[in-house]
Amino acid sequence: MERKKIGREDFEALIKGEKDIAPYIELDPVAGTYSVFGVKTASNPNYLVKAIYEMYETNLNRKLSVQAVRNLFRSVGMGSVGLNNLLKKWGMDLKPAEFLMLVFKLQHQQGWGSPLEFVEQSDKKIVIRTKQTFESQVMNDWKMPVCGIHTGWIEGILIAVTGKNWFCLETKCHANGDDYCEFVADQTESSWQWKAGAIVKGNSAITEYIEHKPLEGKIKLIDDPVVLMPRFIFTSMMSSLKKTMGEMPAGGVNYRAYMDMGKENVEHYKKMGITKPNILADMAFAFYSQMGWFKIIKTEWNVAAKMKTITLEHTAESEAFGNTGKNVCFCTAGLLAGIVEGAFGIKVQGREIKCRSKGDEHCVFTITNKPE
Ligand SMILES: [Zn+2]
Ligand SMILES: [Zn+2]
Repeated sequence: MERKKIGREDFEALIKGEKDIAPYIELDPVAGTYSVFGVKTASNPNYLVKAIYEMYETNLNRKLSVQAVRNLFRSVGMGSVGLNNLLKKWGMDLKPAEFLMLVFKLQHQQGWGSPLEFVEQSDKKIVIRTKQTFESQVMNDWKMPVCGIHTGWIEGILIAVTGKNWFCLETKCHANGDDYCEFVADQTESSWQWKAGAIVKGNSAITEYIEHKPLEGKIKLIDDPVVLMPRFIFTSMMSSLKKTMGEMPAGGVNYRAYMDMGKENVEHYKKMGITKPNILADMAFAFYSQMGWFKIIKTEWNVAAKMKTITLEHTAESEAFGNTGKNVCFCTAGLLAGIVEGAFGIKVQGREIKCRSKGDEHCVFTITNKPE
């Protein structure tokens, strides 16, 4: 089959609506090729889309798995920079919003949902909507805003053609029972603060911001270098300290060391511009939890007794030690106390009052003011 030559006039006709993509679809079943508008493609089967959402859902909740899909499709959107350069070469200088509409015209006519319409546009804000997207139909049974493919795609396209950061929010979704899927894209700074805030509010998982370069021996979590450690570091450290100083002092040393670490961690957040004590503390708890240290069951605040009680499931130490008949979470107790000290600027005492390793259901910690 001879390949059609596609030029500027074809794109112009498509943008004006004088033509659609139908005459530009070339399917060669024998060769196993399929191209649309001169670009090699393949159909987007709904089971593939469903599988992507469900793969993320295995480890995340549904809201966060939509975000993970968005992250994935941001990269897809960034790929549109090639088309943008080609059009520029032909002297077609489209505004970012016009280019966005062109890309989606090409996609939607290939089965990605109803046509998109403009609602509003300015240099820093673009609002578009569609009766339904492909993913809003496939994921309809989730009954919530599901269009991570489109939000990510929109962000990627706009980032690629403007060189600035864009954030896209789906404000209405067909899968959530709305008349439209509506996307609001804002040009925003993507600061450390903004990302960390999204994690604390449960709008992002830290996995969205992990940059792992295994072959270079580097891992970053929102621009901060981090390392992966085996959990048995706790048992190993404890037995090493126990050998040199005995069990009780070893627990005290661990408590002290992790308390300093918790405090330093909060200091780092302060340097990044976070100031409110409650947010500082919640941020540290959310980060350590998502890094695998524990799951927070609940935190209670007894105003009269000036005591904070924190209940945790599977702390790193209780999991590492297993059942020992005693409290083992000295590091976690120190860490929690350090976080509270750093965040609120007070002196506190952290104590583990129940421990999974002792046979309790959860590890429970109290944080109380330390008399000067
Ligand atoms: Zn939607
Ligand atoms: Zn414990």
